[in-house]
Amino acid sequence: MKAIKIGNVKSEPGKINYGFIDAMALPTGTVDRIPVVIAQGNKEGPTFFLTANIHGNELTGVAVLHELVTEDLVRDLKGTIVSIPTLNPTALRLYQRHPEYQDEDPNRQFPEGRFAKPDEEDEDKKYPKPFEQVANLLYSYFEKYADYHLDIHNHSLRSVPYSILDRIFYDGVEERAEAEELAKKQLGMVEAFGAGAMITTDFPPKKYMNLKYHRSLSGAVLNTLRIPAFTVELGSNSVLIPEIVTGAVKATRNLLRWAGMLESPKEKITEYKVPIPEYRIRRIEHPRGKHSGIVKLLVGPGEKVAKGQVIAKITDIHGRPLGDGVIRTEHEGYMIALRDQMTVYPNMGIAEMGIKDEDEILSPMPPKD
Ligand SMILES: [Zn+2]
Repeated sequence: MKAIKIGNVKSEPGKINYGFIDAMALPTGTVDRIPVVIAQGNKEGPTFFLTANIHGNELTGVAVLHELVTEDLVRDLKGTIVSIPTLNPTALRLYQRHPEYQDEDPNRQFPEGRFAKPDEEDEDKKYPKPFEQVANLLYSYFEKYADYHLDIHNHSLRSVPYSILDRIFYDGVEERAEAEELAKKQLGMVEAFGAGAMITTDFPPKKYMNLKYHRSLSGAVLNTLRIPAFTVELGSNSVLIPEIVTGAVKATRNLLRWAGMLESPKEKITEYKVPIPEYRIRRIEHPRGKHSGIVKLLVGPGEKVAKGQVIAKITDIHGRPLGDGVIRTEHEGYMIALRDQMTVYPNMGIAEMGIKDEDEILSPMPPKD
């Protein structure tokens, strides 16, 4: 059996072992430790990394991983599960998105990898920031051990569970066939997760790069390490919804079945429902408001909407309509996530939708100048 050591945890066939990675020494004398669970079966198989809570207020994944990794699971398991229930413990304690010691999105701090530009003059690159150092350390374990990876997130309070197909970048025609293989595996994974989440492609390649999604954990693992990986957004942040936890545990076991790590029959998810779009959809921040004002959304998460349909009412603070008093969508598609806030400014998106994806999943590498 493959021997794995992460932080102070070692794999042992037929056992679940628990421990920590010492991630960052804190100025006040203690250490920020990231919890690690290694569950190894008695039979050979792949190593699946399951991670959660890199954004500290996104709680569902913590519960999913706790419910999933049990003695019963290990009895039937082929291969190894590396479960990291929180990638960002300080933020979990503080109930916020960012780590205590770096007020930036922790899920954009993973190595640039193949996207790195030679930049001798940028001295900052020599001095990674605190969470960037943590991200580098975590990433080194993926590089060493991972065969597959799932990262669990939550979007907004009113959002439908959805899996994200990251764009896959390839360097020249000679890499195209390899990228196609990788895309096939990525799609296989999200399809295996199945009714646990609606499938959407990420933003188009340019926006994907602008948002630095290639430096998200699953984006870096997929695009630089070329390990099949995806992110799932399991509905509401900040609260636990028991039905979603139970359904997502089943969906994750279905994913392990896809990887050949469990032989039991596929489970049906009956706890909640997600739409099955008729075409491949991609994310878009849409619709956007034209005024500063107060918004009341009129559609629900997962709802299919028609082009031109009214999505929200918009008023001033007195309650009087602004403009024609409504915000319409310019696209047919599905409502994925509704914005939590009631206040908007001009051009601000009030939701994320899934619309027909006209781009390929595969994209040539962006130029490095
Ligand atoms: Zn998140």
